[in-house]
Amino acid sequence: MVLIYMSYDKIILISLDTLRADGLGFNQDSLFPSEYKVKTKLEKTNLDQLAAQSCFFSNTISVAPYTSASHAAYFSGLWPKHNGLYDQFNTKLRAENIFQKFKKLGYNTSFKTDFPFVLGKYLNMIQGVDHYFVEDESKPMEILRDSKKVLSFFHFGQIHYPYGFHSLKFGGDDYRQKVNFLEKKYNIVSKKIKLEDMAVETFRDQEDLDYLYRYKKIIAHLYKNKLDNDLFDLYLEGINYFHKNKFNVFLDNLLETLKGEKYLLIIFADHGEAWNQETYGHHNSLDEGVIRVPVMFYASDVKAQYRKNRIRTIDIMPTLLKLLNVKDDSLDGESLVEMVYNKSISQDRDAFSATWVCESCDVLGKMNQIKNKDRLETSANSAVKYSAAYYQGNYKYTENYKLFANRSEKIIDFPRQQLFQINNLQDFQLIENIQVTKKLHKRIESLNSVNEKVDGIDKSDQLKKYFNLQGYNV
Ligand SMILES: [Zn+2]
Repeated sequence: MVLIYMSYDKIILISLDTLRADGLGFNQDSLFPSEYKVKTKLEKTNLDQLAAQSCFFSNTISVAPYTSASHAAYFSGLWPKHNGLYDQFNTKLRAENIFQKFKKLGYNTSFKTDFPFVLGKYLNMIQGVDHYFVEDESKPMEILRDSKKVLSFFHFGQIHYPYGFHSLKFGGDDYRQKVNFLEKKYNIVSKKIKLEDMAVETFRDQEDLDYLYRYKKIIAHLYKNKLDNDLFDLYLEGINYFHKNKFNVFLDNLLETLKGEKYLLIIFADHGEAWNQETYGHHNSLDEGVIRVPVMFYASDVKAQYRKNRIRTIDIMPTLLKLLNVKDDSLDGESLVEMVYNKSISQDRDAFSATWVCESCDVLGKMNQIKNKDRLETSANSAVKYSAAYYQGNYKYTENYKLFANRSEKIIDFPRQQLFQINNLQDFQLIENIQVTKKLHKRIESLNSVNEKVDGIDKSDQLKKYFNLQGYNV
């Protein structure tokens, strides 16, 4: 059967940072109600409405639980090992990206990021981008409106903590009041807490930075005291706040702007969020709530459907290329066109995900480099291989190598292999099967990245890092 689909003049990619697959009320395979005791209910949103009219994938696995590597896979259609970007800050994209490809096809390209430090020019993610914007969606919206052919990427950071607010510029007094309220509620004296997580995603003035660190200290306090339910409640509140104060209106404007045009809208997330003994938000975990993300395709010739079969974030790029009749056999991902346009039945695809962690001192150094030099030098071999997962058929297999001990920042060795049988999307059962374990271990070995030379290795730095990890102070 020959598939017929429209040739789109405008393709819009929207990334909702930190939105779990079940962070949409529309999702029918929700995990969190059985994982947390929460008071907050997800409110009905315009995104839910759109999802109901889209081809919605409820079971997409991201290649990594953090912003940089996850987006690199979306943009390249390649596993991290093959596109070069696998950790948070120490590797850059080294493959042709979607913007370069579309530019060659005559599309104007625009890129809007809320997290320029980890998503944008410093990690070499904007080759082929004509217009680059930080925390501003009005100008890219004009470009989208005025261009004849355009590929437009919008990233939103509000769902990430500080949940709902992103910055003082956006969150304003609501943000200030929330921080004061939480400090009071939990009896937190901010000055007394030593903060380990100093990561910053964007440029901030001093007051904004102060509020961010106060918020992060609240989170650190709740986490240390095992108040995971409270943390998850804040996360859900943040999702509601984002839709109410930003995204409902944005979607309305977007659809209005696109009226009468031939367009395709793809909305997705880079990773989710979770709070438990082994998960601090997202960066150190392959928890199902962290790496299962929502993906939806919306266009006038896409028929609404709800799909549970497993796909991967690397499949988006090959799908777009297929729609434009571009052949590229070098990609790891596979087109979803048959599913989206033909409602074809499809098997669960094999998926891979891995996390590499950085030490907080390293993260701080990187942030300062960007602020002072407006560029980022990556250093090889600085991230620590932490854990990996492989999905095949009805199995999810995970390997741990390291662990942050007892909810602290101390990294210890933690060799562990676990095999889960996936009974359904809400029921993962720990089982034993040596043969399957062996087979999936091999898959991980073949796909996981290795620390390698990127921009030259400083040996003394490496040694220092090695001894620091062993607990010595060098
Ligand atoms: Zn992210």
